[in-house]
Amino acid sequence: MPADGNAGIPLQNQGFDFDFVVVGSGFGGSVSAYRLAEKGYRVAVMEMGRRWTPENLPHTSWSIHRWFWWPKLGLEGFFNMRFFRHVTVLHGCAVGGGSITYATTMLRPPDKVWQTGSWAGLAPWKTEMPRYYDAASHILGVTENKILGPADQLLKRSAEEAGAGNTFYRTSVAIFQAPEGESGGNTLPDPFFGGEGPARTTCVGCGGCMMGCRYGAKNTLDLNYLYLAEKRGTRIFPETRVVDVKPLNGVADGTAGYEVHTVRSTGWFKSEPRRFTCRGVVFSASSLGTMDLLFHLKEKGSLPHISNRLGKHVRTNSESLLAIRIPRTQEDLSNGVAIGTGIYIDEHTHIEAVRYPSGSDTMGLLTTLLTGGAPGWTRISLWLKNVAVAMLHHPFQTLRLFYPFGWARETVILLCMQAVDGDLEMCWQRPWFWPFRKSLASRGQKVPTYIPQANEFAGKVSQITGGTAMSMIPEILFDIPSTAHCLGGCVMAGSSEHGVVDDRNRVFGYKNMYVCDGSVIAANLGVNPSLTITALAERAMSFILPASETSWNDSTEERMHARAAIR
Ligand SMILES: Cc1cc2nc3c(=O)[nH]c(=O)nc-3n(C[C@H](O)[C@H](O)[C@H](O)COP(=O)(O)OP(=O)(O)OC[C@H]3O[C@@H](n4cnc5c(N)ncnc54)[C@H](O)[C@@H]3O)c2cc1C
Ligand code: SF4
Repeated sequence: MPADGNAGIPLQNQGFDFDFVVVGSGFGGSVSAYRLAEKGYRVAVMEMGRRWTPENLPHTSWSIHRWFWWPKLGLEGFFNMRFFRHVTVLHGCAVGGGSITYATTMLRPPDKVWQTGSWAGLAPWKTEMPRYYDAASHILGVTENKILGPADQLLKRSAEEAGAGNTFYRTSVAIFQAPEGESGGNTLPDPFFGGEGPARTTCVGCGGCMMGCRYGAKNTLDLNYLYLAEKRGTRIFPETRVVDVKPLNGVADGTAGYEVHTVRSTGWFKSEPRRFTCRGVVFSASSLGTMDLLFHLKEKGSLPHISNRLGKHVRTNSESLLAIRIPRTQEDLSNGVAIGTGIYIDEHTHIEAVRYPSGSDTMGLLTTLLTGGAPGWTRISLWLKNVAVAMLHHPFQTLRLFYPFGWARETVILLCMQAVDGDLEMCWQRPWFWPFRKSLASRGQKVPTYIPQANEFAGKVSQITGGTAMSMIPEILFDIPSTAHCLGGCVMAGSSEHGVVDDRNRVFGYKNMYVCDGSVIAANLGVNPSLTITALAERAMSFILPASETSWNDSTEERMHARAAIR
């Protein structure tokens, strides 16, 4: 594995430190780095998170300092939560972005998503996208899940009883799995890239994907796209936060290139400011990260021509998290892969069976008795009443539910998503509690905090299993939903009046500048988004000419030429 980039940098100098600087190393950033390096460009990836290996990953979620990313508090893990008035966003922060903490579910959305939102009609999506999904699936090693744990069997049984048995499916996952029925834990030479990739170990079904895979079975980006990019000379700068990007030599549209300023993102004292020059920039800092950076750069005058549509159409995939806890169950519900199976309880409502590994019980601190009802005080009163009634009837059983230890072994989480439209807006303002600097804030219509059909299904599952259905405490107390799938904010559109990038991810108003991450997604996908983010980045990179042929004229004609060459 090549060394990290923070040491001395012997740079080939052709007037620019790099051809492209990629900001962020998640799905969009890794694809960009690999494909650009493959085309002969000199690429640097700036990543604010740390590099993780099976050796330094936490064993359970109680290792808060190696799980959470709040570096100002000394927490330098790979998982972050950001709290807004309308939504709590869960996201990853590491070399490999969200892939270190994600559950590896790789689903293609239904065709209808290309007909809604500001990207509708911009390209023949239905005919074009399959080949980019195929390319992404190939590198990410997507396969049908072969390991069904007790939580998956429970979902299957419940779906059958609820009349939705025919919709039960095994998820597609980015995991190196042994053939069905064979035990995992075997280490083999690179099974994916003809010997060019690293050795890998087959999945043992520990359910720990969201805590980072300590077995080398999860196909994280540092084991595929980023690994191959580094082999082609890409430099990765971990623990490096980009704080400024501005056009060079006062050429406002970036034709003369850009300067990128970074600081160290970890540690309390040394900020280690650095400056890099490059011809092109790819923003891949995730939906929140890219909005954060672009709002800051637009306001401070570094990139003033970014579209005013920045922050519009932020989507949360209409999600709700529920859980069923079965105290003293004989089966270990944490066995399997993090998200092994799914069902559709109606045309719009998709439910997946999710789990944490045994011992990772901290999420249990956020769950409580299932409570429906109207948001606000009515729901809080109903919740208090439910807890009081449960305490009166079954005091020990109820107390046991609130005891976090053993939670992961005894619980199946139901991740409910709806492919219905509805969006939020993010803006840049001074929070009332910290008026000294501006930051992202949400506004607009509240996204529903619970999906009634999903609550009803959770109630049924609890009856079938003898368990207790549970809701997330923040949803009840603050009427704020949580999502791991924050999308949009720099959406694709036909012009800067409607979006931030064009249908090839090119930023309106600038040359050789792209956004390749979840922020460009212009519709509610209704399925986990990483495969779509990866496929769209593959598509965006397919338009770029090889380094030996480029004239750095970021025009439609040049891109058409590149596409024709690829065909
Ligand atoms: C617990 C959890 C489980 C999930 N499970 C799934 C799943 O099963 N399937 C699925 O499809 N999706 C899943 N997701 C969502 C998925 O992780 C994201 O949708 C995906 O990672 C987004 O990709 P991205 O390219 O937009 O950015 P990310 O992968 O989020 O990467 C962005 C990177 O940019 C870095 N960055 C941000 N700002 C800066 C800056 N200023 N300078 C330098 N670096 C910066 C960040 O540290 C981060 O590493 C899950 C998410 C979570 C939190
Ligand atoms: S289930 Fe365990 S071994 Fe398999 S990919 Fe997830 S973390 Fe790795």
